[in-house]
Amino acid sequence: MQERIRNFSIIAHVDHGKSTLADRILQKTRAVSERQMREQFLDSLDLERERGITIKAAAVRLGYQAKDGEEYILNLIDTPGHVDFHYEVSRALAAVEGVLLVVDATQGVEAQTVANFFLALEHDHVIIPVINKIDLPSARPEEVALEIEETFDIPAEECIFASGKTGEGVDEVLEAVVRRIPPPQGDPDAPLKALIFDSIFDAYQGVVPYVRVFEGTVKPGDVIRIWSTGKTFEVDRTGVFRPGALERTEKLGPGEVGWLTAGIREIGDAQVGDTVTLDANPTDAPYPGFKPAKPVVFAGLYPVDTQEYNKLRDALEKLKLNDAALDFEPETSEALGFGFRVGFLGLLHAEIVQERLEREFDLNLIATAPSVIYKVTLKSGEEIEVHNPSDLPDPTLIEEIREPYVRLSVYTPEDYVGPIMQLLQEKRGQMVTMNYLGKRVELVYEVPFGEILYDFHDRLKSLSRGYASMDYEQIGYKPGDLVKVNILVNGEPVDALAFIAHRDKAQTIGRAIVEKLKDVIPRQQFAVPIQAAIGGKIIARSTVRALRKDVLAKCYGGDITRKKKLLEKQKEGKRRMKAIGKVEVPQEAFLAVLSAG
Ligand code: GDP
Ligand code: MG
Repeated sequence: MQERIRNFSIIAHVDHGKSTLADRILQKTRAVSERQMREQFLDSLDLERERGITIKAAAVRLGYQAKDGEEYILNLIDTPGHVDFHYEVSRALAAVEGVLLVVDATQGVEAQTVANFFLALEHDHVIIPVINKIDLPSARPEEVALEIEETFDIPAEECIFASGKTGEGVDEVLEAVVRRIPPPQGDPDAPLKALIFDSIFDAYQGVVPYVRVFEGTVKPGDVIRIWSTGKTFEVDRTGVFRPGALERTEKLGPGEVGWLTAGIREIGDAQVGDTVTLDANPTDAPYPGFKPAKPVVFAGLYPVDTQEYNKLRDALEKLKLNDAALDFEPETSEALGFGFRVGFLGLLHAEIVQERLEREFDLNLIATAPSVIYKVTLKSGEEIEVHNPSDLPDPTLIEEIREPYVRLSVYTPEDYVGPIMQLLQEKRGQMVTMNYLGKRVELVYEVPFGEILYDFHDRLKSLSRGYASMDYEQIGYKPGDLVKVNILVNGEPVDALAFIAHRDKAQTIGRAIVEKLKDVIPRQQFAVPIQAAIGGKIIARSTVRALRKDVLAKCYGGDITRKKKLLEKQKEGKRRMKAIGKVEVPQEAFLAVLSAG
């Protein structure tokens, strides 16, 4: 049966049509899978329906009758589409033997096309280029095929022209999967070696690891061992993925892609990239490259209503069950009260988590500006990690501050190279290489991660009329001449507004922030000075002018409905206001640094 398994992923730059093509493939193959699904339907563990949780469409097993008359099992493994999830993409790719490299026929090759291509190449995968959206009038598939040949050294003839919209070419894609991608290898009697490429949390079954078996076999009753933690669990169920359902199987053998349950309660015991083996007969080496999920960006999350602190903690704990990369610890801010310092994989991850907290748990939150992790050597020789700018010790105690760097690839039509290089210089980037790939240029830079965290992507897009794209990965720490800038509101330093910046840029950023704060802090009945300071030295200042008395009078004199409306509006505003001393400060203020870099 191994002979007729094909494991593959679809990789693409965002919006090039990965999801649409996957839907088409599901549709085309459903005919076969439906019959099988009905046969085993009662056996299936339909977590989604029974337990009311959402199963990530991480993998799906499809039956496909190929033109050679044979029936094949196709396992399609989904990869997350954003740079925050670079590592998850690499683990998903580790689970397959080949990829469909989808390229938009109107856009051509872009940054994530290149980044994903190299990830697939590292795994020695068969790469099938699919030029998508050929139904569009502006499609130029032949040109893009040549671009692929030039960029990746894949013969243009190997490209398949397709449209996820009309379904054209999708049969050809499926045939190529069967004919070009090799069946998985592996000995069913060898010691078990299975890679966890994703996992979900179910309230009843606990953590459900999604695995790709490389060697050996696993079945209910087996005692498994998780490589990195050494913990053991008895397998309760094994199974495979059907569209919309988890279907039980007697076992999982080499080359198979499936799931297992084993009463695992902690997400840390089934982390993406870890290896599952048998306790009685362990493999001698894990699947290489395991990296425990580690947050790289931290932000403070505070309930607007201090009474909601416990609710926020419970909500974070719930989310963490399903998200090994989420990390949090209690934090107290003079300005914001009791809250949490929360760690994320990147800004997108932070946005997703905050949105889930507010929507699913009905919380009102104030978020502080995300910050990278700084490593500090003190004069005493002690090494500390700073997750919150306000925790940076007094400069007289500091020997050295180091900041995280990324290796950033920007991919752009050559017309925009000049302005982009200027932007990268402003962001303290150092060029590593510059490659011409046809009419496009790849710029590779080493840049402080903190410099590209906020507005970099937007500025890149606007400089290049939307044509440039980017990708990055963490490469470690380097020393920097960094200082903490305090922001004072009404003479009081506000810990939640402090930030760390390069000395040469501190004043510019400080100035931008005090200007922004002047605009977002509502006028009070007295003038409010706003200052930026390094130590005792004021580097920028502005003033929120006092409210004029007659404006107030007008508000309270009007008719009833107008008054009501005003009160409603005020209430709405209050939801995201925090009183700092006598001054009411809105949510936007805490994110002012995001647009000031
Ligand atoms: P993904 O980000 O790679 O998953 O891209 P999606 O599948 O979400 O597609 C992005 C956009 O392109 C959506 O608006 C799709 O409807 C559209 N799209 C995808 N494939 C095609 C295609 O073959 N032809 C046309 N005309 N539009 C397509
Ligand atoms: Mg998609």
